[in-house]
Amino acid sequence: MFNLVLFGPPGSGKGTQSENIVSNYKLDHISTGDLLRDEVSRHTPLGIEAKKFMDQGMLVPDEVVIGMISSRIDENPNSRGFIFDGFPRTRPQAEALDKLLEFKNTAIHLVLSLEVPEPELIKRLISRGETSGRSDDTEEVITRRIKEYHAKTQPVANYYYEHSKLERVVGDNSIPETFKILTKHINKYLLPVT
Ligand code: ADP
Repeated sequence: MFNLVLFGPPGSGKGTQSENIVSNYKLDHISTGDLLRDEVSRHTPLGIEAKKFMDQGMLVPDEVVIGMISSRIDENPNSRGFIFDGFPRTRPQAEALDKLLEFKNTAIHLVLSLEVPEPELIKRLISRGETSGRSDDTEEVITRRIKEYHAKTQPVANYYYEHSKLERVVGDNSIPETFKILTKHINKYLLPVT
């Protein structure tokens, strides 16, 4: 099993690159943003609670997302491995993920961090907001999301750096160029399925 965390600020291209990675390496994709938006659209109790945080650009409480991740892992017992996108976003989430995976006799093998300058992030998110219909892609909420990222999520990179799992990747090249760099790192662990 090979487990990868795709790390980076909002707008860094995690969703796009995850799709490419999933189709080339046949990993199971776990995006907490997508899982939460699905709960919101189904008006589940979890979704109704989560929406209050998401619409303000705040992180949803750790225990909510950790519970969701745990059930997604359990739903895929024969997985080749997982790609975690948008998770972990806090140090407690990173620690909880390590414990969950240890319990399943596996671990996070690699963390790829997409590095994109802030003005480019803001530009991308505002332009996505024009078509995505996402209620959190407005300028005011984007600013808050980036602030949350610096305060709570950036320390997660240090956590994985301390565990010698972090690789930084320049994320403002073209989509195929960025994907090529990501594959160079992944291929050290797992080859694409042809
Ligand atoms: P982006 O990376 O573009 O900001 P996501 O789709 O990953 O967007 O997340 C959207 C929102 O969902 C976040 O702003 C946050 O409110 C919530 N969210 C997603 N993942 C997590 C997580 N791991 N922990 C807490 N909140 C999360």
